[in-house]
Parts: sequence; structure tokens; C-alpha cells
Amino acid sequence: MTSITLHGAVEEIGGNKILIEDGDTKLFFDFGLSFGKYGDFFSHYLQPRRHSILSDYMDLGLLPNLSGLYRQDYEKRFRESSPEPNYDGVILSHPHLDHAGFLSYVRSDIPAYCSPGCKAILQVFEESSYGFHEYTRLKESFKIRESKRDSTKIVKDRSSVIPREVNIFKPNFKIDDITIHPFPVDHSVPGSNSFVIETSEGSIVYTGDIRFHGLKGNFSQFFVEKAAAFDPDILISEGTNIQDTKSYGELDLQQDLFSVLENVRGLVIVNFPVRDTDRMRSFIEGAKHTDRSLVINMRQAYTLKTLAENGVTHVPRLDEVKIFVPRKGWGVINDMNYPIEIQMQDYHSWENQFIEQNNSVTADEISSSPEKYIFRCDFFELKYLFDIKPPQESIYIRSITEPVDEEMELDQIKVDNWLKHFGLYPYIQLHCSGHASGYEIQEMVKQLNPKKVIPVHTEKPAEFSSFHGDVILKGLGEKYTLS
Ligand SMILES: [Zn+2]
Ligand SMILES: [Zn+2]
Repeated sequence: MTSITLHGAVEEIGGNKILIEDGDTKLFFDFGLSFGKYGDFFSHYLQPRRHSILSDYMDLGLLPNLSGLYRQDYEKRFRESSPEPNYDGVILSHPHLDHAGFLSYVRSDIPAYCSPGCKAILQVFEESSYGFHEYTRLKESFKIRESKRDSTKIVKDRSSVIPREVNIFKPNFKIDDITIHPFPVDHSVPGSNSFVIETSEGSIVYTGDIRFHGLKGNFSQFFVEKAAAFDPDILISEGTNIQDTKSYGELDLQQDLFSVLENVRGLVIVNFPVRDTDRMRSFIEGAKHTDRSLVINMRQAYTLKTLAENGVTHVPRLDEVKIFVPRKGWGVINDMNYPIEIQMQDYHSWENQFIEQNNSVTADEISSSPEKYIFRCDFFELKYLFDIKPPQESIYIRSITEPVDEEMELDQIKVDNWLKHFGLYPYIQLHCSGHASGYEIQEMVKQLNPKKVIPVHTEKPAEFSSFHGDVILKGLGEKYTLS
């Protein structure tokens, strides 16, 4: 018997946790955080309780109440933990947190499977981001040990790390009787994949997040052609923009960007999503077109470096950009009154490698030749404008999505205040979505010609019925059986 159960992404964008069972084999496709539900209860200032996180999240419907799935150090805090795992693997479509973020709570003896790009980005999260990111290395909690200095004392033991097996996709790999064919597709982060899943009761296609209007639209098209040949029984399709008819693509954005940049004499400041390497490519091209250089932050530099080390292609190289070294901590970088060791202590160890690079730049360098740069500056980096001092005739390009909730709206008010303070208001909005338009989804469904469609990752799943005759709308945790 084969079944599909959605434990997330039902009438919401993100939080994908799709359980496919075939006989005794149980696989999760994605195990993501639902930003919507999370935001209903938590904020920057009201964080979850780490010690009871599993039971609290289950109580709020953020995690399904299943046994043999969660890491035992946390599960043992509120119930008996199963000695053996009940699931055979978690297959990640891509490294956005609404698809991969909750892998941190999955027990270490359940292996994960993903693309090299996805693994690289998860590694960057793990090594350089705040928050709970334990994908490949689980730091065991709630352990105690004797103090090394004084054996009569007991201390909290934070040293134990349990590795998780994170396997890189092979072209068609098998987990028990299920065969999985991953296909790289176009989306707004490297390492994105869609799947054909062959089960004993038929073939299932799962899109993950997909679009056709980015720089790798041909990848998505190739996937659709190949997947159609499997004569899919079920299509599990994202529908983020199901109501949008037009699609404004990355190349349209590049054209608009070029004409904006041609008329700027001061500094160009831009905010685009930190891990969107296609958008980074667009701004690199814009910079080349106008004799400027794109300046990215150290986390982005670390991401490009890690992607390259993992053999990921179709992403910018580190030598195509400049790396911004901001004043942090004591703010003594390049201050000769302080020894170099003290200067370096203002930075995380992973940042040190970028400080002395020949393509690193400081605020002073940008400030003295603003016409040479496009400076990427996100919400948290607005404070560096004090050092950069954008001159008159500088502009700010907002290259991220419109605010979708109250918290984003409040943040945007703060951004506007900063822009007004530095004479950068009004800003220019240039953005294209990471998701297929309704028209593109409709075309994809037509080509795949599946017998049934299960919409996910959309607030309007019923819209799919306007162009397909057999749309399955199941509630959260309701099992659908293939027959
Ligand atoms: Zn998503
Ligand atoms: Zn995504």
C-alpha cells in the first residue's frame, strides 16, 4: 500500500513535510518550518523554549506528533523515546528553511538526502548563522559530566556531537522499494530539485519549489519533459503564485536594472536575498555593465566559497565580487593603535579568512569612490551606512519581496526611516519571484498530465481545480492512499 500524508504546507506557503509510505518504507520529502504558523506565536523577542521545543511545537501544530522521528535528547524530555527510528530518510528539495529547517529536530540515525548545493548551504547555516541549525552535526543536549578541572564537580556537557549521514543524490537512487529521480530545477536558491518518485502503486511527481522565469528556467523545462515520460499518477505541486497570471523574469529584471544603473552617479545600494545567487548574478552583470563592482557581505562570500568547494556550478565565483569588511565589535579594524590579533577578535573565526583578501573592501574605500560600487546592504547592515556615507545622487534598490506580514511591514518602516535619513528615499523596487506564476503552473500541469494533483505550498489550493479535474484536498495529517 502506498500513501501520501501532508504534515505541513496545507493552505499555507512553506512548512513542507510530505510523508510518502510504501509498504514498510517511510520517507519524508522536506521537513520544513512553517513561517506563517511560527510567526503567529513567536517573534524576535518571544523565542521558543529550547528545553521543551518538541512538545511546544507539537502543541502549536508546528511539528507532527509522531514517534521514532525526533532526536532522542529532546524527545526524552517529555516522553519515552523509541529505541529504533521509524522512518527511513528525509529527502530535501532545497535548503530554504521552510523545507529543510526542521531537519535539526530529526533523530541522527535517520539519514538525509540532498543535492551538493543544498548540503553546502546547510553547512553554511550550521557554521555561520544564529539560531538552531544542526543538520549534519547534532550537539547532544541535557548531558552532564564531571568537571575536567575538579572531579568533585558536575558540569553541563556540551561537547558531544553526533553526526548525521547526509547523502548526496545519485541520478536514480533507491531507498528500499522506492526509486527517486532528482532533477535540478530553477528556484531562488542553489541546489533546488524536483522529483519523480516511483512507488509500488504508481509514480509521484513532487515539484518542491519551482519556477521557469529565472536564469535556469531550462532546467525546470527539462525536468517537466523527463517527468512527463513517467506518466505520473500523482503530482504534488507548489502553488505559491497560483493566482498570478503574468511572470516577470530574472532577465526582465536585468534589463530594467541596466537602465536604472546607467543614470546613477553616486553609490548604488541594494538589498537582495542573501542566498539568491541568481539575483547576485543579475547585480554582477549590472555592475559589469556600468564599470562598477558588486560588494557582498562575508556570509555571502562564505556561501560562494562553500558552494565552490562542493563542486556547485552555475553560481558566481568569489573573484567576480568584492567582499565587504565592516567595522564590528570594538570597531578597530585597520586601526594601527591595536595589534592585529585584537583587530581580528572583532570577527567570528569563519570571517577571518575574508579580511585580508585582495578583493575585500572597507567602508572607507567605498566612501572614497562610491561610483565604483554596488553595495549590497540588508536590514541588519543599514548601520554600516554611517561609515559609508552615501553621497548625493546615490540610490537604494529594493530587490526582495513585498512585506507579507506585520513584522515585515514594521521592519520596512524602519528601513524607510534609514533611507530617508541618508537621502536614499524613495527607493526603486526591482524583484522577481522565486516561484512559478499560475500560468506557468498550469502549463506544467498540462505537460505532465498527471491523473491527480495534490496542491501544497499555497494559500489557495482550490484554484488548481480551475484547470485540473481531479484535485485532492486533504487536511493536515490526513492520509491519502493510492490505489
Ligand atoms: Zn518554500
Ligand atoms: Zn524555496
